[in-house]
Amino acid sequence: MTTPRIGLHISGAGGLADAPLRAKALGCECFQFFSRSPRGGGAPPISAETAKLFRSRCKTWKLESYIHAPYYINFASSNNRVSFGSVSAVREELERGTLLGATYVMTHLGSASDLGENAALRQAIDRITAIFDPKKGGPYATQLLIEISAGAGGIIGDTFEHLAFILKGVGRPDLGICLDTCHLFASGYDLRTPTAISATMRAFKKHIPLSRFQLVHANDSARDFGEHKDRHTDIGDGRLGVDTFRFLLRHRDFRGRNFVLETPGADARRRNDVALLKKLRG
Ligand SMILES: [Zn+2]
Repeated sequence: MTTPRIGLHISGAGGLADAPLRAKALGCECFQFFSRSPRGGGAPPISAETAKLFRSRCKTWKLESYIHAPYYINFASSNNRVSFGSVSAVREELERGTLLGATYVMTHLGSASDLGENAALRQAIDRITAIFDPKKGGPYATQLLIEISAGAGGIIGDTFEHLAFILKGVGRPDLGICLDTCHLFASGYDLRTPTAISATMRAFKKHIPLSRFQLVHANDSARDFGEHKDRHTDIGDGRLGVDTFRFLLRHRDFRGRNFVLETPGADARRRNDVALLKKLRG
């Protein structure tokens, strides 16, 4: 039986090769990072030296790493420059992840804007399929995961039905799912008791094989159940509470999935939250 690894989203300040150092200092067993500025601009090349140092540090400290794709990714934009730009950016992240030895690249799907939900989902399938065009690169050692969203505005990917539709449409067995606890809760999937977690995961498994579920974003929610508001808060400070994370870490459907905190607190608080989740996993 695999014990889940606990880790943090680590800031990119100080250069890529320093990310494993910061992760280690905060008690992480895994970590997520941006390989480029999350708000825009190109990806600065990763030198062979940086990649080697990053990999050797991860190996020495037994750290697993994950890349979070930039925020501007929108496969459903009616603007081709944005939707195809998202394809190139995620493809680059898969290349960069492969270079750095990252296990996953996480992405959001984007927002339906003026396309309407069905057309937006169909376009997202088309764009995600285009990421894997063999003429453009690959195969990649890093696996792509789609993260469930909180569903504010026209954001797609906030229901298991949406995610299942995308997985089926793309038809790649290596395309996985990341479940963010704050986003699930915001989207109306309750997690506050073992019974609620079981009901949520029954709904998941009705649409998606459990084997596609690969990673957890562990965040408390500052906003209430079903509000469709994406406001992460530190563990125990929100509407989910500490008990939720104990239940999740011990629930059979979450077994073997690693937990990455994307909480807003200062380093001291985040280090404590990592220690707390390690304690809660039992
Ligand atoms: Zn997340």
